[in-house]
Amino acid sequence: MKNIKQMLGQQISSERFKYKLIIYSITAVHVVLLVLFNFLHIWPMVVFNVGSVAVYIKCIGIIKRGYEREIIDVFYMTYWEIIIHSFVATVCVGWRFGFPQYIIGLIPFGYYMCATLLEGKRRYMIATALGMIAALSFIACRGLSLYAGSIFPLELSPHAEFLIYIFNSVCNFVFLFMVTVIFVWDMQRITLQLRSQNVALDNMASVDPLTGLYNRRSMQDFFSQALKDEKDFSLIMCDIDNFKRVNDTYGHDFGDVVLKEIAHIAQQHVSDRGCVCRWGGEEILILSNDRLDHTCEIAEHIRHDVEEHIFRCRGKELHCTLTLGVAGHRVGNAVEDTIKHADSRLYYGKQNGKNRVVTPYNSQ
Ligand code: GH3
Ligand code: MG
Ligand code: MG
Repeated sequence: MKNIKQMLGQQISSERFKYKLIIYSITAVHVVLLVLFNFLHIWPMVVFNVGSVAVYIKCIGIIKRGYEREIIDVFYMTYWEIIIHSFVATVCVGWRFGFPQYIIGLIPFGYYMCATLLEGKRRYMIATALGMIAALSFIACRGLSLYAGSIFPLELSPHAEFLIYIFNSVCNFVFLFMVTVIFVWDMQRITLQLRSQNVALDNMASVDPLTGLYNRRSMQDFFSQALKDEKDFSLIMCDIDNFKRVNDTYGHDFGDVVLKEIAHIAQQHVSDRGCVCRWGGEEILILSNDRLDHTCEIAEHIRHDVEEHIFRCRGKELHCTLTLGVAGHRVGNAVEDTIKHADSRLYYGKQNGKNRVVTPYNSQ
């Protein structure tokens, strides 16, 4: 059932299928009317419907080729055919069989087609003008039948007259339902598309494309949230050791691989206990929601795993190390000060041999 719904959804969202569905239905109604008028011996209507069916068969061919400009022509042809058909039917057999009802369906159909096929403000102006012409045509048909009568005053049983009227009503209602469902389906599809585009844009704005870590802007948001929640947290500032040399010796590409893999190691150790962000070029800042002593352990695990890791790129292998500075943040302190503490511990680590974690417990 879900598959059928999905298939139908995909089909309906494919532009050509929608137009084909509409034109096939209109052609089918004209074939039935052709048979009906033939049966009633209303020859002008027989001739008219033969012409209409021929036009719609041509329209199906155009839609199959599917050029947008030609599809607009198909819409205009359909629009005028339905209006002229209603007039000719009214002149031939009168108002009471309900042929002009089809004109009503032209209003939502016109708005849908103009909104999807035309561009700019003019599409609504054209749709409104066509809608007004349709409304006037409907009233004109009524006036025509009232003052001019009909060329073929049919003497049918009330039963047969009722059946023809109901046939025309049902066809018109089915047409209205069809246009409405297609419109709603389109709206849903566009809304879903917009939502997923928003998510993608949000990700682009908050995630660093190289490492997949949060960017600096997102970290500021996390800080704001942490301050709002009035919760203590800890920071780890990491910097890759001798990274310039990695770039110079192995190339920028290899440098990127190292950066990405170190980011991955850090992310794995922090997981959902905090957030990891690319703070600068090859500096990673970690906001940990764990206690300070646990955060120091996390930092040591990251350092250890980076030291043990073998970085590979284009057949070359490399070992790399990381220096980390840890600082605890207490409610009421300024975040900038905590960042400075983490940064100065990192600097201290760099000055004292690199590849180490400097925490409040082991720094002077
Ligand atoms: P230290 O051990 O003192 O940190 O020495 P270092 O060579 O790592 O010095 P520093 O931290 O100042 O190095 C920054 C280098 O990081 C310079 C820059 O070329 C490199 N870098 C920054 N961003 C990227 C990047 O996205 N990709 C690559 N491959 N390199 C980057
Ligand atoms: Mg650096
Ligand atoms: Mg460095």
